[in-house]
Amino acid sequence: MIERILLATGNAGKAAELARLLGCPVLPIEGWDPPVEDGATFHANARIKALAGAAQCPGDWVVADDSGIEVDALDGEPGVLSARYGGDGLDDAGRTAALLAATEGVTDRAARFRCALVAIGPDGEEFSADGTLEGTIATAPRGARGFGYDPILIPAGETRTCGELTADEKNAISHRGAAARALRDTLGL
Ligand code: IMP
Repeated sequence: MIERILLATGNAGKAAELARLLGCPVLPIEGWDPPVEDGATFHANARIKALAGAAQCPGDWVVADDSGIEVDALDGEPGVLSARYGGDGLDDAGRTAALLAATEGVTDRAARFRCALVAIGPDGEEFSADGTLEGTIATAPRGARGFGYDPILIPAGETRTCGELTADEKNAISHRGAAARALRDTLGL
């Protein structure tokens, strides 16, 4: 029986969102000291953060996540570099504009959001889960909801971007929701 999980983040909002998705108390790590995320995959970066969290909080269940967007025509970029795409100093709108510029005139617009979750138990046991939201890159941003690349990702089977979906609509299909449901099943929450 897992009574609580610590999320390897200092962001209380992220912890609250995961608590809702997992159906279990999730708290941010107090005084979270983030490690360098130099993994080549979302899973590798989530594992780096989960191991750092476990080292900071021995005896607790710790979960870490990593996520981003992959564009087929850019050979999977921005991928693990999604948060820094286009260079330092850009905000979400700037990164979105940089990705639209990089895909201008490109006909293959296939893209996806990915999320990796890694959980580490009190005895060092490791579990992981992944989720994907397949879609296409829009040609211009649409919608003011959500965050990050939401205004330019159109989920498969939708005409709206993620920025035009309600939070409930997005959670039902999102990479993060899918990964959390898979982890909840794996951990028996
Ligand atoms: P992180 O995993 O919170 O570091 O996010 C990595 C990057 O991917 C950030 O630039 C986010 O904006 C982007 N990203 C991750 N998930 C989503 C999403 O659900 N919608 C839009 N952007 C996302």
